[in-house]
Amino acid sequence: MMKHTLTALLALLLALPSFSQDRVFVSAMIDSLCAPHFHGRGYVEDGDSKAAAFIQEQVERLGVDQPVQVQEFQLGVNIFPGEMMLKVNGNTLITGKDFIIDPKSGKAKGTYDVVTFKPKWADSHEKLFSRIADGKFDGKVIVFDINDENTNYQNLIDDVYKNPLKAAGYIILTDKKLTWSVSRSMVSFPIFHVQKSSVLKKIKGVEINVDQVFKSKHTGKNVMAILPGTSDSTSNSLVYTAHLDHLGRMGAATYIAGANDNASGSAMLLDLYQWYFLNRPAYDVVFIWFGAEEAGLVGSKYFVENPLITLDDISFLLNLDLMGDAKTGITVVNGKVFEDHFAKLSSLNMELGLLEKVKARGPAANSDHHPFYEKGVPSFFIYTTGEYKHYHDIDDVPSNLPLTNYEKVFELITEFAKVGI
Ligand SMILES: [Zn+2]
Repeated sequence: MMKHTLTALLALLLALPSFSQDRVFVSAMIDSLCAPHFHGRGYVEDGDSKAAAFIQEQVERLGVDQPVQVQEFQLGVNIFPGEMMLKVNGNTLITGKDFIIDPKSGKAKGTYDVVTFKPKWADSHEKLFSRIADGKFDGKVIVFDINDENTNYQNLIDDVYKNPLKAAGYIILTDKKLTWSVSRSMVSFPIFHVQKSSVLKKIKGVEINVDQVFKSKHTGKNVMAILPGTSDSTSNSLVYTAHLDHLGRMGAATYIAGANDNASGSAMLLDLYQWYFLNRPAYDVVFIWFGAEEAGLVGSKYFVENPLITLDDISFLLNLDLMGDAKTGITVVNGKVFEDHFAKLSSLNMELGLLEKVKARGPAANSDHHPFYEKGVPSFFIYTTGEYKHYHDIDDVPSNLPLTNYEKVFELITEFAKVGI
């Protein structure tokens, strides 16, 4: 008993954080943001706006000095709100697991004959053109097997959005992991990416029912909260950003939760907010949750063109995206650009004995820091690295997300902000 008490006490002491980073809070926030109510924080049912409202509510619950600001912007986006069915040889494939719909896909409903494209057809352009002119592919769904040894028709697959065979639709078979995204344009015919292992026999016929809508005026939202610093003499600010949106629904029955991408970063921003609320530096700390990142950094691009704060006053910006598994550490986009800042971050990590690797990268337009960087704002985009492999797929869910070394990343970031900027 005594031994147990001591062990428990020791464990408690070891676990006692020197920072108030809050794993229970962060997990709860990730769970909430991934709940069906938010529809994958995308464009169906305005899941992204619901997530924005939720974040605003949480900030207000934690305490505010100034009203939370919500900035609206508009974009066109291709969505799949209803039916999402693909039957191959009479078997219904599982949405998200056996197949994904191409983000640019159009709608379709019906039963179709299938033509499996033969590589030799691409040997002669003339013959292929006469095949098309003869209407050989009219009304058919074409199957491309991209794992074919013979890839002489790769150009046809690259041009699939132009409907190179004048077909009724396309199925692209692949052995690779299915990775979804979101598109701001559409085509008029259906395109599926199908996992080869889910189709055991040659495809003879398909039944399709895909409901698709191009939403030309979707309202996206950015949410901003400011914690004023303790000094009146500085107008400098430290800015934390994370995108609140994800890919949304692939049909009425399936949504992509985006636990790592980027419920994790959005939740961490809320955790940082509650920490800074009690630990105010001299400068202002600004928190921005962006919408429509997945649609092409739409929210952050809009923000830098219509800034709610003075961009010149930003001493440094830290964008957090994919914060769910720092087993091997973090990678810092722009680490090779802002070398002094990176050196401080890296040496702090060594001094504090936190993460195995803190790796620097050059610039990349792969998250919301980039529009700021292009406007001259010094910035890092930090993402975690580990064993978590679920990206833009149906398995990126809270129950899979380990949050490995979350506390260490939190400590490194807040310590860096104290001395590094
Ligand atoms: Zn992301």
